[in-house]
Amino acid sequence: MPELPEVETVRRGLEQKLKNFIIKKVEICRDSTVAYPIDKKDFIEGLHNSLVYKWNRRGKYLIAELRKTDKNNINIENKISFVNNGVLVVHLRMTGYFTFNNIHTNPCKHTRIRLFDNNNNELRYIDVRSFGQMWWVRDGLLPNKIIKGLGSLGPEPFSKNFNISYLTKIISNKTRTIKSILLDQTIVAGIGNIYADESLYSAGISPFREARTIKKYELNKLRIAIIEVLKKSIGAGGTTFSDFRDLEGENGNFGLQTNVYRRTGKQCRKCKNLIERKKISGRSTHWCRKCQK
Ligand SMILES: [Zn+2]
Repeated sequence: MPELPEVETVRRGLEQKLKNFIIKKVEICRDSTVAYPIDKKDFIEGLHNSLVYKWNRRGKYLIAELRKTDKNNINIENKISFVNNGVLVVHLRMTGYFTFNNIHTNPCKHTRIRLFDNNNNELRYIDVRSFGQMWWVRDGLLPNKIIKGLGSLGPEPFSKNFNISYLTKIISNKTRTIKSILLDQTIVAGIGNIYADESLYSAGISPFREARTIKKYELNKLRIAIIEVLKKSIGAGGTTFSDFRDLEGENGNFGLQTNVYRRTGKQCRKCKNLIERKKISGRSTHWCRKCQK
């Protein structure tokens, strides 16, 4: 599943490719991809004549700000003055990705949504496992109310709300493992299996530690490790391990080298001990027994 760095990589690609993209045609190839509005016609009509103004990210959600345009008002230079037309929210889940096509190609069978502009440029959403979702939330409604997962997200790792006093407070009574705390999107947004394992290794903390036993100095190390690991991966364009593609169809070509994730049986880069793997409720955890206590 794409995690924060991969979703951020996709966001940057969308921002770059979709300058001045005005949606003129919407094709829904699979109904269930549209989570909201319930009536698919509302989704199509809502997006029609919308300028995709800006792409934001919150956790693993992509959020496009839309501006309504009409025939008499297509002066791109003045786009800031267009009327707000709500947001298009996308969650890629396991296998969702976008391609931007400026020459016509036939869609593959996993194509779920197609957005076209007047010049027949196409933003195509493809999703093999089909868990990905899209929402169009009209201006005046609150996306956080309509999209439950979005409304319940914890702080962004790069925000000042993700600080040591917040973390100390949140783990103080938690008997769950620190790994499960990091995966909990209501505690911190955007971290999944890869970056949880990598951050814990970097901070020297065992993923199986009961969260409330973690000392303040360790927690601070972990907070810094999370930020560093995520930033490094964003700089590298995401990792090849995550089932994701950027807008060029690349899967983390310049991907981040991991220290523990999918390195089971290989030597730890710090102590030469072998990296181990343990499966807990369907999720693999990778760690070094010597370096992580
Ligand atoms: Zn080690």
